[in-house]
Amino acid sequence: MKNLFWGGCSCGAVRYTISDKPIFTQACHCSLCRKYTASAFIVHSFIETIKFKLETGELFETDGPTGSGRGQKVNRCKVCADQIYSIFNRVKGKITTLKTTTLDQADEFPPQAHIFIKNKLSWVQLGNIPAYKEYYNFNETLSTKSLERWKATGL
Ligand SMILES: [Zn+2]
Ligand SMILES: [Zn+2]
Repeated sequence: MKNLFWGGCSCGAVRYTISDKPIFTQACHCSLCRKYTASAFIVHSFIETIKFKLETGELFETDGPTGSGRGQKVNRCKVCADQIYSIFNRVKGKITTLKTTTLDQADEFPPQAHIFIKNKLSWVQLGNIPAYKEYYNFNETLSTKSLERWKATGL
């Protein structure tokens, strides 16, 4: 299949597929994302929940932080606890927020926006990608096709 992409955790127990390209990919530099990833920023891709398939391995959930306070469940490999995706309560059941860098071909899906750069570490260079102090306007930033896919989920 042309639009079938594989990904997985670092121990190899979890393997998954997404049956389409992500709707949108963003890098978040907020202090919560930096802490819970132990990294400089997190890269998240939105994908329709029905287009994500766990192929091997098992997942367990932990409660993750959100700036809004509405919460998210972080789904992790049962063996190594690597994060695979988050379910944000706001879009529960419709949109899965994939940890983009767990995709085997993550290089094909660079961030289309940097968000919360007000919290960005000073040594992180952003390059030529739109960057927002906090969040962006969804309707203005997503392509027409991406917006159609987002809305088709019922959100
Ligand atoms: Zn694992
Ligand atoms: Zn964040």
